[in-house]
Amino acid sequence: METLKLKYPAIANYIGGQFIPFTGKALDVQSPISGEVISTVPLSGSNDLHLAVEKAKAAWPAWAAMPVKERVQVFYRYKTLMEKHLDELSRLVQEENGKTFEEAKAEVEKSIELTEFACSLPQLISGELLEVSRGVECRVDHKPLGIVASIAPFNFPHMVPHWTIPNAIALGNCMILKPSEQVPLSAVKIANMLKEAGLPDGVFNVVNGDREIVEAICDHPDITAVSFVGSTKIAKVVYRRATDNLKRCVALGGAKNHLIVLPDAHPDMTASNVTASMSGCAGQRCMAASAMMAVGEVDHIVQKIAEEAKKIIPGKNLGAVISKAAKERIERYISEAEAAGAKVLVDGRNCIVPGKEDGFYVGPTVIDYVQPDMAIAKEEVFGPVLAIVRTKDLDEALRIENDSTYGNAASVFTQSGGAARQVMERASAGMVGVNIGVPVPREPFSFGGWNESKFGVNDITGKSSIEFWTRLKKTSVKWNPEAKVNWMS
Ligand code: NAD
Repeated sequence: METLKLKYPAIANYIGGQFIPFTGKALDVQSPISGEVISTVPLSGSNDLHLAVEKAKAAWPAWAAMPVKERVQVFYRYKTLMEKHLDELSRLVQEENGKTFEEAKAEVEKSIELTEFACSLPQLISGELLEVSRGVECRVDHKPLGIVASIAPFNFPHMVPHWTIPNAIALGNCMILKPSEQVPLSAVKIANMLKEAGLPDGVFNVVNGDREIVEAICDHPDITAVSFVGSTKIAKVVYRRATDNLKRCVALGGAKNHLIVLPDAHPDMTASNVTASMSGCAGQRCMAASAMMAVGEVDHIVQKIAEEAKKIIPGKNLGAVISKAAKERIERYISEAEAAGAKVLVDGRNCIVPGKEDGFYVGPTVIDYVQPDMAIAKEEVFGPVLAIVRTKDLDEALRIENDSTYGNAASVFTQSGGAARQVMERASAGMVGVNIGVPVPREPFSFGGWNESKFGVNDITGKSSIEFWTRLKKTSVKWNPEAKVNWMS
């Protein structure tokens, strides 16, 4: 009876090209915008994973044997389908994640760009060949790994799965996707569209759940590589467990991104970029501005940032945060900073959006005079909150940035090439920006942080991911008996 009332039918796992009705324990899926339960998601177990892996294994030989130029044809068609259904996909992202429609659309557009990159793989993975000795040639080819898994977080239900799906599959692997149990709806659309685009059954599978299924993925003997995106705490668990089981693993973790603002920064450009970075997607981006190092006399810029932040209206151009627990956690960070002496310039606590009273909203928040040792300056808040730390010079700002355990993004705002160069060189972060609030590298450049923001060797997207999703086969060939003796023969 209960399920009849839900807006979306109960989610089913997608295994071997079919949605398999789930009869086990399920979790409610809540829309952060209304607080309403809109669906349920399976808490799958190792049996469900086993079935998915068996289907993937059955599909793999034919998929791996297909030339890459043929495999990417699926992704050309898939990209067209995403473009055709852009609004529909964006609305679903908005509903399950809580971000604004414009943000959701930008997310799906990024999925399209990631798919375009996969379509270019035939141009990028041509191997190498050399006559290494008289009559003997060596060639190197990128070969797929087999069955791989991708574990995703809640903050980009559509884009983060596309960090891995198009590249891993176009490179000849079969995949098991484990979406976040908080946002499982977009994966249903992804599965349907890949099928419509002509992907053979079993090449892509979705197994839903939480901890139990992630552990089963790390332990499954037939899964050869695992990618993970989520918090640092779980990234460590997954990286350790997957590599302990002798799998290849890249695990992206959380972030605390530092924006360094110098007195010569362009005031308007800086204020709008910093504010957009801290408030976009309600601050739930692993690239979001979180701590701003205000170097020297920058009061005029801080004032502009506060003015910009006040223009952001929750429920209009600011989305909801993912859950009640997230709202409470974010507000706790603000209250603790205030109690410890920081000055709240713009206060987003106790935010109620008319007509969406049960939604999980936190208003834009700007806090000045935060001390570097406060929790709000060091830990990932993951909400629309900017903590401003005053520093006397660039060295002090860089010292604080360097001390962070994380290392996803860092940015500097300045008109000085010399100062910008210092930050480019000295920031301890995998992705650095100059006068850019969210320095995400666009394709073909790869995405990945440093320090505790990423565990593993490769980045998760772009050219770097080719190495992650493939292994090299080195072949030596001789056909001419007249060449007689050759190297090592
Ligand atoms: P999370 O770590 O709670 O969950 C991520 C995934 O791990 C989910 O699929 C979840 O089901 C699973 N999981 C949760 N608890 C687990 C456990 N105990 N054992 C095994 N698996 C478990 O992360 P989240 O809250 O969904 O996402 C937000 C986090 O992700 C933030 O820290 C954010 O910075 C990070 N993130 C990082 C990047 C990046 O590129 N570095 C990108 C997006 C998000």
